Order: sequence, then C-alpha cells, then structure tokens
Amino acid sequence: PTKDKKYKRILLKLSGEELMGEEGFGIDPKVLDKMALEIGQLVGIGVQVGLVIGGGNLFRGAALNAAGLDRVTGDHMGMLATVMNALAMRDALERSNISSRVMSAIPMSGVVDHYDRRKAIRFLEAGEVVIFSAGTGNPFFTTDSAACLRGIEVEAELVLKATKVDGVYTADPMKDPTATKYDELTYDEALEKKLGVMDLTAICLCREHDMPVRVFRMDQAGALVSIVRGGNEGTLIQE
Ligand code: UDP
Repeated sequence: PTKDKKYKRILLKLSGEELMGEEGFGIDPKVLDKMALEIGQLVGIGVQVGLVIGGGNLFRGAALNAAGLDRVTGDHMGMLATVMNALAMRDALERSNISSRVMSAIPMSGVVDHYDRRKAIRFLEAGEVVIFSAGTGNPFFTTDSAACLRGIEVEAELVLKATKVDGVYTADPMKDPTATKYDELTYDEALEKKLGVMDLTAICLCREHDMPVRVFRMDQAGALVSIVRGGNEGTLIQE
C-alpha cells in the first residue's frame, strides 16, 4: 500500500473552527477522534504528516481587538489558543495509537517542545505526526501563513488546507448558487481574484517557494488518503 502514493510528506492545515463541531466555541472531542482517524490512515500508508491547527475556535487577535483589547495581546492569545488545540489533537492521536509531537514557535518549557526544524524533520522521518503550534510566533500573521512557512521549511511536497467547502469557488457557494468550483488556480489568480482562500501573505510565500496548496473538504471521509494518492479533490493552487 506504500507504493501507490504521490506524496511522501505533507503539511495539513486545519482551522480551529474545524475542531468545534456543532458547538459555537471550544473543542469537540468527537471531531478530534474523527480527524485522528483520518490522519492515522495517512500514517498507515507511510505518509509523513506535519499539522498546523488554527485557534479561531477559541480566540482571534483581530476579533479581540475589535472588542477593545490591544491587537498584539489578542494575537498572543490567539497563538496560545493554537497550542491548546494542538495539545487536544495530540491527545486524540495518541489515544488512537498514533505517535505525535507538539512543537511551539513560542518556548513553553515543560508543556511542549520548542520548534526546531531539524528535530521536526527527524520526527517526521520516524513516522511521528508533528503538530506545529503557536503559529509563526509573531503577531499580525495567521496560521495559514504558519502552515505554509512550516511546510516550506520541512520540505513538505504539498500544503493541504482543510475547509468547510470542497474547494475554491468563483463566489461564496453558500450565498451564490451560480458559483462554480475551480479545479486549479495559479498563485496569481488566487491573489488577483481575492477569493478569500487563504490570506495573501500565505499565498505569496507559496508562490515565492513553489509550494503547491490543495484546498479541500476534510469532512468528506477518505478525502485525505485519496489526495495523497494523487486524487484531485478540491482545488489545486500552483504556478
Ligand atoms: N496568530 C498570530 N500569529 C501567527 C498565527 C496566529 O498572531 O503566526 C493569532 C492571530 O490572532 C489569529 C489567531 O492566532 O487570529 C488564531 O489563528 P487563525 O485565525 O489563523 O486560526 P484559524 O482561523 O485557522 O482557526
């Protein structure tokens, strides 16, 4: 089963909202378990998986700022939220017998490892899922940018961005019934059309370093495995 895969190392980005399930806030353990199962299938066929999880289910700097908090403080809270999500995901993975590590861009001795690129690559090579938390460690960035950054750093072959929709559409398909899905887009198209796929910093970074991004729907069972085997679920963004 290891022969028939197209990608050996991927970076999967999950948004925080993805973890909250039916609730409006927080973490739904049922969703975590489901995701651990999907990720476990990848590990099972020998794919090395790096993971970046957002924090939008708990805190977002921009939203806190709109409510009156200092923006940088809000971003720090958002980054800490991603560490909590990472801990919850590690717990779910380990309960499913999938070895995993959490690394943080912000040192947090005794809780998680500090991010170290060479160590991360060694863990990946050993078949451990590496969860990169605390975003980039800097305010004013997003976890989309962190996912692309880490993906490029650890030499993943593809960034997979899980969303609620099954790809990138000409308009929001929830609001516009005439919206159609793109199978492929160039970085420039994604930037120019401002389709809201990913933040522009993340797309620019990928363009600069030729990192392909596939946007897909995670809650389609088996989609992840299909994609690493060369399936064309969702939308591929590349040169
Ligand atoms: N954040 C940050 N720097 C980073 C990554 C994240 O300051 O490099 C903060 C920012 O406030 C952001 C929050 O963490 O709103 C949560 O991340 P994000 O909004 O990307 O989460 P998602 O939408 O993917 O759940």
